[in-house]
Amino acid sequence: LTLHGTSPGLHIVHIAAEMAPVAKVGGLGDVVSGLCKALQRKGHLVEIVVPKYDCMNCELITDLKVLDVVVQSYFDGQQFNNKIWVGTVEGLPVYFIEPHHPARFFLRGQYYGEHDDFKRFSFFSRAALELVYQAGKKPDIIHCHDWQTAFVAPLYWDIYATRGFDSARICFTCHNFEYQGTAPASELASCGLDVDHLNRPDRMQDRSAHDRINTVKGAIVYSNIVTTVSPTYAQEVRSAEGGRGLNDTLKFHARKFVGILNGIDTDTWNPSSDSFIRVQYNADDLQGKAANKDAVRKHMNLSTKDASQPLVGCITRLVPQKGVHLIRHAIYKTLELGGQFVLLGSSPVPYIQREFEGIANHFQSNPHVRLLLKYDDALSHLIYAASDLFVIPSIFEPCGLTQMIAMRYGSVPIVRKTGGLNDSVFDIDDKTIPVQFRNGFTFVKPDEQALSSAMERAFKYYNQNPEIWQQLVQKVMRMDFSWDSSAAQYEELYEMSVARARASARA
Ligand code: ADP
Repeated sequence: LTLHGTSPGLHIVHIAAEMAPVAKVGGLGDVVSGLCKALQRKGHLVEIVVPKYDCMNCELITDLKVLDVVVQSYFDGQQFNNKIWVGTVEGLPVYFIEPHHPARFFLRGQYYGEHDDFKRFSFFSRAALELVYQAGKKPDIIHCHDWQTAFVAPLYWDIYATRGFDSARICFTCHNFEYQGTAPASELASCGLDVDHLNRPDRMQDRSAHDRINTVKGAIVYSNIVTTVSPTYAQEVRSAEGGRGLNDTLKFHARKFVGILNGIDTDTWNPSSDSFIRVQYNADDLQGKAANKDAVRKHMNLSTKDASQPLVGCITRLVPQKGVHLIRHAIYKTLELGGQFVLLGSSPVPYIQREFEGIANHFQSNPHVRLLLKYDDALSHLIYAASDLFVIPSIFEPCGLTQMIAMRYGSVPIVRKTGGLNDSVFDIDDKTIPVQFRNGFTFVKPDEQALSSAMERAFKYYNQNPEIWQQLVQKVMRMDFSWDSSAAQYEELYEMSVARARASARA
């Protein structure tokens, strides 16, 4: 294990269940990598710790090797060995933890959805902290994400800080309050936490029952900084409906809680250098965009008769949060309005997957609709590049990245005004918004009528005047959704927290 500490900036360790592109399920993976790269560019020493999954894309890791030390970590009354791998992912130093536990925690062929997820990730959280501790690192910030690594916050303060490993402040980011990591209280003991001490209403006790604990609640209580992924969502989760039972905890800890809009990784998502797409293009030269549209239509066996027929894209996990009934409606509405629709989506929910398989079969030989029910990163780039419009009718959306990626590729978003969509998409017809910010079509009510009317306005705008449409495409492509300003906000939070800690250590 190597000791770092020569960087003039902060030493920041991210502990997470995902990082793009090696281990990505959704936005969390994008955010961890994008934020870390931006922080590194600002001169900070950034390191990442993730599990070594059997299903991750190891070929995207440079110089992957096993360290010749074994880190032992506690679980269920015993010590277990962990093999530690290190490698570089897009310039970022990453540690991969491979537990030698008989339950083979990360050798399951999938990232999530196992019966023992709570155990797997509580083990990982403990092992990750143990790695940082045993390596003798003295980070200024340990940043954990979502319930899977929320254990880090109470573990750090209750177990590690008392051993003198207390250089760090803890930052916790909740990417989605829908997933809170609840379990019978007794399960918390496995990673070494004290159940009696933590199973209290003001600490980790879940609101649903006296004998259940809630890991996200624990991280809110035990972290120095708590963030979520957009200002609007930060407001929404303070309400009873949005907070999913954590609204009171968030209100109590309001002084350390803030919403920061995610950015996108503008290297990964760059139409002028993207090697996944057929022809590269940029806002000043949109010919390549038309070529990509043509290529995707041919590849998917869609009609290419009318080059100007608008193509509507949708790339999403198919889960209730994303408004699946509205996505289905958007397919039919697109056909009615004379467009083409391409959906790339996969669902962990069997009844939704089945429903969309039915729709896919129904449209199998239709020249204007294609549903691809899988996860496919390369294909996602092609669809962003090929589409003219992009639909995101979410019921709730903590931040949402697809609207920002779509805009970067010149696809104009049609979104429901919720969470981060409300902070990044502003309606073309909204006179209360300065013209330079208007970049899409929005609707408020989560119903078919509201979506239909936004789609009608979008199609009308598209069909009316190609030159005005082209100006809109160029405008959305030039908008800045990079991590620069969001990473600066995280940097400020980190620095304030570190300064407070140093001041109180001196006092
Ligand atoms: P969430 O994190 O809720 O899934 P986000 O909008 O924050 O939603 O992030 C979604 C990310 O996952 C984007 O990068 C999007 O391109 C990608 N994505 C979603 N579904 C698929 C899919 N079926 N195939 C490829 N990429 C997908």
